[in-house]
Order: sequence, then C-alpha cells, then structure tokens
Amino acid sequence: MSAALFPQHIIARKRDGEILTREEIVAFVRGATDGSWADYQLSAMLMAIFLRGMTPEETAIYTEAMLRSGFVADLSNVKQPKADKHSTGGVGDKVSLHLAPMVAACGVAVPMISGRGLGHTGGTLDKLESIPGFRVNLSSSQYREQVAKIGLCLIGQTAELAPADKKLYALRDVTGTVECVPLICASILSKKMAEGTEVLVGDVKFGRGAFMKDKAHARELARTLVTVATAMGTPMRAVLTAMEEPLGRTVGNALEVAESIACLRGEGPADTMAVTYALGEQMLLLTKTARSATEARALLEAVVADGGAMRKFGEMIAAQGGDARVVSEPGRLPQARRQVPFAATRTGFVQDVDALQVALAALRLGAGRAKADDRIDHAVGFSGLVKVGEPVETGAPLCVVHASDDKALAEVKEMLAEAIKVGAKPVKPVTLIDEIIG
Ligand code: URA
Repeated sequence: MSAALFPQHIIARKRDGEILTREEIVAFVRGATDGSWADYQLSAMLMAIFLRGMTPEETAIYTEAMLRSGFVADLSNVKQPKADKHSTGGVGDKVSLHLAPMVAACGVAVPMISGRGLGHTGGTLDKLESIPGFRVNLSSSQYREQVAKIGLCLIGQTAELAPADKKLYALRDVTGTVECVPLICASILSKKMAEGTEVLVGDVKFGRGAFMKDKAHARELARTLVTVATAMGTPMRAVLTAMEEPLGRTVGNALEVAESIACLRGEGPADTMAVTYALGEQMLLLTKTARSATEARALLEAVVADGGAMRKFGEMIAAQGGDARVVSEPGRLPQARRQVPFAATRTGFVQDVDALQVALAALRLGAGRAKADDRIDHAVGFSGLVKVGEPVETGAPLCVVHASDDKALAEVKEMLAEAIKVGAKPVKPVTLIDEIIG
C-alpha cells in the first residue's frame, strides 16, 4: 500500500478539512469491509467526516463505494418496472406495509429491503414479524424469485448486501456519528440501490418524533439523497413530511399491522392515507405507470376499492410463510393481556400528542428495543390514539393501552399524561406533507 493510503494519513486529511480523492474514499470503505482498518481508525474517520462534512462529489463516491462493498441484486428476471420507498423513520409509521402491496397491485414490482426499529422509531421487519410465521430472512435467490413471481417481497438486509454499511452503522451508533448527512445518505442509498430497484421515493421526516428534528436539516438530507441517487442512475424523489404526532392511530407492532390492514380495506386514518398516497403517486409517476398525480391517485384508490391490494398483501404473507388469514381476521395477530382505555380528564380539544413521548411509552411497554438483542413484545402498544385538533370529553378514551403487565401499564399512564394534552382552545390539525423534492 502506498503511504498516501495509510488510514492515519487519510483520517488526518479529512480531520484538516481536505477533500478526499476517490482512491482514499475507496480505501476507507474497503478497510471497513475487509477488516484492514481497525475499529478505532474507522471511528476516527467517521468523526472527521461528521465534523468536516463531505462535498457532493465525495458523498457520491462514498455512496458508490458502499454500494459496491457487497452484492447488487440482479432483478433482470423481473419484467415490470421496479420501485421502492424508504422512510427515514417515525412513530406509528406503518406506511410500507400497505403501500408496497398497493403499488404492486398497480403493476409495479416492489423489491423492498427494510430495517428493524432504530432508537425510538419502529421498524418494518419487527411489524411484519408480528404476523404468525412470517419470515423476513430470505436468501438472495428466494428474494429474486418472489419479486418475479408476485411482484412484491419485503425482507431484511442480507449479509452480502452493503456489508460496509453494516460495519460502519454499528460504529456510528456508538460513537455519536449518526446525524450526519453524507453518512446517512450513503448508508440509506447503498442498501436501497443494492436491492435492484429502478426508482426510489423517500419519505424524509422532520420533527420531534423523527431522526431529523428540524426541517432545514431534513431538506438538506432529502436534496442530497435525490441528487446522489439520480446521478447514480436511480431516479429519486423525496417527500418531506412532519413527524410531530404519531402517524395514524396505532403505535406498536401487531397493532400497526392491523391498522395497515384497515388501510387496505379503505378504512385507514386520513393522515396515514395522505402520506401513503403522496408516496405512492411518486412511485407510479417515476416508473411512468401514471402520467399525472391525479391518475396515479385514481390507480391506487382503485386497487384498494377492488381488493387487489389486499390480495397482494395476502399473497406476500403466504409466500413468506406467514398466516395470510390475518388479512380477513386481524384478531389472529398477537393480542396483549391487558387492554385498558386511557381517559381524558377534561373536555376540550387535543392540543398536542408528542410523538417522541408516545414512542418512549411504547418502548416501556416492550414494543421496541433498548439494546440490539432485546426481545420485542409484538402485542403491546397503543390503539385509538386521538389526533391534534380533535374534540374530546371528560372520561372519553385518548387511546387504549395494550400492555402485558400492570407495572408497565401504571408507568405508561403517567407518561401518556405528559404526552397528550387537552385544552380549551380549538387547534388546527397538523399539516403533514410539506414539500416534494426532485
Ligand atoms: N437509516 C439508515 O439506514 N442509515 C442511516 O444512517 C440513518 C437511517
């Protein structure tokens, strides 16, 4: 190795605010993949990038190197156009579960590789695993075959897919280097582009319940994602959406699956469906399945109305070993031992439902993980959550708590009293869709 490519030399150049060459960036990513850089060197490099940033060109090179660190799925066997969506994560965000079958029922293949819950945000894989028997760990060939056969597959990251991200993400998680636009961009796009999609739609969330708390930062991430993905040959658009209160009326794995099934029956909450249609429209527009947002919306509504999207969801569940009867009998999903209404103590209007506090309360119930190897309780969480602006009366439920033990139930009621505020003044509902970028 030339001295110029020694880890300490590359780290020092980034530390001093220099622009790295392609060779240097590739050496760093190779070091993460083959173990030739020690964890302390990788961590120092991540911190240098976090503090000094990357130019758009460096970010694109870094993303490409991360993508090439592993296997890129070949979906040339799939004849339909291929689209996927990625959400930066929120509270009650179950949109992938019903959006993917809706788009697939419109004739667009959806090869989706998703993640598990991260911090306070829930993960699509954890939600799907609340369906009895559902398998998220398919091999690459099973994944290809299923996308070709039913146009839809929802699995977890395989070991061959973007292995550099797997290594670097784990280090970022414990070194205070998560919230950094170039690092997030490469992490998301390397995984999403490796799954074989042709176009990508991002749901970039901002607000208390999101990973990006302020809109300006979320917009910067959205612009970077769109620019880098499009330059790498994967047309992308991003929808900026608010994440101040939970999305929909449920938080918790099985409860969110049940709500997604309601969405597929045409009975989804208005806020969840607004985000679902905004993202679905962009997926149909980017794949040229529709010529206008109005036409795309009509196609998506039609597959909900005629049951096509629900059938597609059932096909996917069956193909991945799950009990597809849940689509007509959601009562087959895990149920919590205690289901207790949490009542309003005054009459008025809902002033606030703090997404972060609701998420922390769900974590206390066992709906998510505090540590990577914690077990999740799929049955627990909240249903019937009120929305900001709604009128409520003393004694009426603000939500129903689904808990497995009384101690957690008592603690969570105190947390909810902080999270959900009722007052006399009428309040406008939250505006969810802020901007479409790309
Ligand atoms: N999601 C990812 O996959 N990577 C990040 O860095 C942040 C969110």
